[in-house]
Amino acid sequence: MADQTADDGKYLFLENDFRNSGMAQADWAAKKMVWVPSEREGFEQASIKEEKGDEVLVELSNGQKVTVNKDDIQKMNPPKFSKVEDMAALTFLNEASVLHNLRERYFSSLIYTYSGLFCVVVNPYKMLPIYSEKIIEMYKGKKRHEVPPHIYSITDNAYRNMLQDREDQSILCTGESGAGKTENTKKVIQYLAVVASSHKGKKDVNTGELEKQLLQANPILEAFGNAKTIKNDNSSRFGKFIKLNFDVTGYLVGANIDTYLLEKSRCIRQASTERAFHIFYYMVAGAKDKMREELLLEDFSKYRFLMEGHVEIPGQQDDEIFDETLEAMEIMGFTEEERLGMLKVVSTVLQLGNVKFEKERNSEQATMPDNTAAQKLCHLQGINVTDFTRAILTPRIKVGREVVQKAQTKQQADFAVEALAKAMYERLFRWILARVNKTLDKSKRQSSSFLGILDIAGFEIFEDNSFEQLCINYTNERLQQLFNHTMFILEQEEYKREGIQWNFIDFGLDLQPCIELIERPNNPPGILALLDEECWFPKATDVSFVDKLLNTHSSHAKFSKSKHKDKLMFTVMHYAGKVDYNAANWLTKNMDPLNDNVTALLNNSSNSFIQDLWKDGQWIEWWAWRP
Ligand code: ATP
Ligand code: MG
Repeated sequence: MADQTADDGKYLFLENDFRNSGMAQADWAAKKMVWVPSEREGFEQASIKEEKGDEVLVELSNGQKVTVNKDDIQKMNPPKFSKVEDMAALTFLNEASVLHNLRERYFSSLIYTYSGLFCVVVNPYKMLPIYSEKIIEMYKGKKRHEVPPHIYSITDNAYRNMLQDREDQSILCTGESGAGKTENTKKVIQYLAVVASSHKGKKDVNTGELEKQLLQANPILEAFGNAKTIKNDNSSRFGKFIKLNFDVTGYLVGANIDTYLLEKSRCIRQASTERAFHIFYYMVAGAKDKMREELLLEDFSKYRFLMEGHVEIPGQQDDEIFDETLEAMEIMGFTEEERLGMLKVVSTVLQLGNVKFEKERNSEQATMPDNTAAQKLCHLQGINVTDFTRAILTPRIKVGREVVQKAQTKQQADFAVEALAKAMYERLFRWILARVNKTLDKSKRQSSSFLGILDIAGFEIFEDNSFEQLCINYTNERLQQLFNHTMFILEQEEYKREGIQWNFIDFGLDLQPCIELIERPNNPPGILALLDEECWFPKATDVSFVDKLLNTHSSHAKFSKSKHKDKLMFTVMHYAGKVDYNAANWLTKNMDPLNDNVTALLNNSSNSFIQDLWKDGQWIEWWAWRP
C-alpha cells in the first residue's frame, strides 16, 4: 500500500486479526459451528450438539438449545475466510455465509466485495474516503487480485480489456431503488475521466475539456430526471446508458448517452412526501431578480402541480444547486438563450397546473373563468392566449372526412392540460439529452471502441404502484434475467467448452415466467398486450382491463388477484418481491393522447426554442382552422 493512502487504507484493506489464528481454527472445528435460520437475523451461529436422523440439536450463542431440521442448516466456513474479498473462494458457498460475509465487511466499512465475476456493493450511506485521486492512482493498471475490491478495479479492468482485446465493454449496475447504482456509475465516469486524461499521447487544444464536460453532463440530467421518492432522495426516474468512446491508445474521444423511460407523470402528481423532478425546486428556490421576472415565477405554495409545496431534502440547499446546475449548463456550452428557454418550459409546466376549468351552468361544456395562468404560460411559450384557450376548450377534431369544432367537458380539458404538461416536459428532457450529446460527440476524432455503463431506475415497491412501477420493475426483471443468464448459464457452458468436468447446476433463478406474464404477445397475451388490446375497444375501462387480466392469468404462478378488495388491483410476483398494482388510469397512460391543436400552436411559437422543441409536432390541421 502506498504511504499516502495509509489513513484511508482501513476502508479498503483487511486488518490482520483473529481470523488467521490457530486458536480460532481449532475453536471452530471443536464446536462444529453452523448457521441456523433466525427470524430476527436471517441466520444465526450455532454449534452442533447432537445429530438424530433428520434432526439436529444445536446450541445458540445465548446458550439456548434448539432442534432444527437438517435441511435448514447451512455449513459455516472456517475463520480464515472471515471477511473474504472474493466470496467465490468460500469453501461453503451458501446464502447464510454470503450474507454473513457481506455484513462483516460492511461493519468494517469494507463496502465492495467480489463474488466471482461480479462485484457486490453495500450502500454505506456516508462518505468514505475511498474515492480520492490518490486512491485512483492506486488502482491504475492493477490486476483485480493486486488491489482490494473496488468499483475502480472493475472499471480499470474493463478499460484495459477494451484496449487489449479491442472489444467493447459494458458495466451493468443492478439493485433496488436506493442501492447505489447511480453513485457507482458516477465513480466509473470519474475514474475514467482521470485515467483517460493521463493517458494522452498527443497534445490537444481541447485537452481535458471533454472530461470536464462529461462530468458536468450528470448534474444536468439528474436535475431534470431525478427526484425524491420514499426510497431515495435522489432517485433516478429514467434509465441511462453512457457510452464512452476511446481511440486505440486509450484516449477519450467522445461520449454518448441514451436514456429510457422517463417517469413524466411525476411532474403533475407526486405521492405524499415525494417530490417532482429536482429542477422545479432548484428553479423556484434559486432564480433571482431579472430571471425570476422573466420566468414569471411564484411562491411554492401557488403551484398546484407541486402538491406539497417546497418539500425539502435534509442537507440540500435547492437554491445553491440551482446556481451549480446553471454553471454545469454553461460548461456544457448551453447558450444563455437555451438556458432561459429550458427554464421557461419548466415554469410553463408549473403554470399548466394552475389553469382551472369549470362546468358551464347549463351544459357539460368546460369554461375557463380566470385566464391568468393561461396568459402567463402563453407569454412564456410565445403563443396567443385566445388560440390556446380555444384549442383546449373547443378543439377542431376530425370526424370522418370533416373537421368540426367540439366543445370539451371539464374532465377532457383537465386531461388535455395534464397531458400537455407531461409531453412538454418529456420533450424538454429529450432536447437536453440531444444537446448534451451534441457537446460530447467529438466525431471528428477517430473512435475505436467504447466502454458503456448502464444505470436504470431500480426495482421499487410503493404503497401505490401504477403503470410506471410496472414498467420499471419489468425492466429490472429483464436485466436481472440477463445477469443470471450470463453468470449462471453462459458461465457453465464455458466450463463445458473448455472441457472442465462439471455437473450442470440449475440455480432455479429463471425469471422467464414473470417476464412472459408481462410481455408475451399472445397465447395467452401478457399484461402489456392485454392493455394494448383494451385500448382499441371504445367501451373498455380500467376495470374491464383488470377483469380480462384476472380471467386470462388466474392460474399463472406469478399472478394473483390482489388481497385488496379494490376491482382495479392485481398482484405480480416479481423476483425481488410481490407487488400490488393499481390499474387506475392505465388505459389513458398507455394511449397517452395529446391535443394536436395545441401542439400545432407550439410548433408556430414566436419563441424559436419552443418552436424547435415541437419541430415534429402534428400541425396538419393548423391551416384549416386558423382564421
Ligand atoms: P434509484 O434506483 O432510486 O435511482 P440508486 O441505486 O441509483 O437508486 P443511488 O442514488 O446511487 O441509488 O444511492 C442512493 C443514496 O445512497 C445516494 O444519494 C447516497 O446518499 C447514498 N450512497 C449510495 N452509494 C454510496 C456510496 N458509495 N458512498 C456514499 N453514499 C452512497
Ligand atoms: Mg439511480
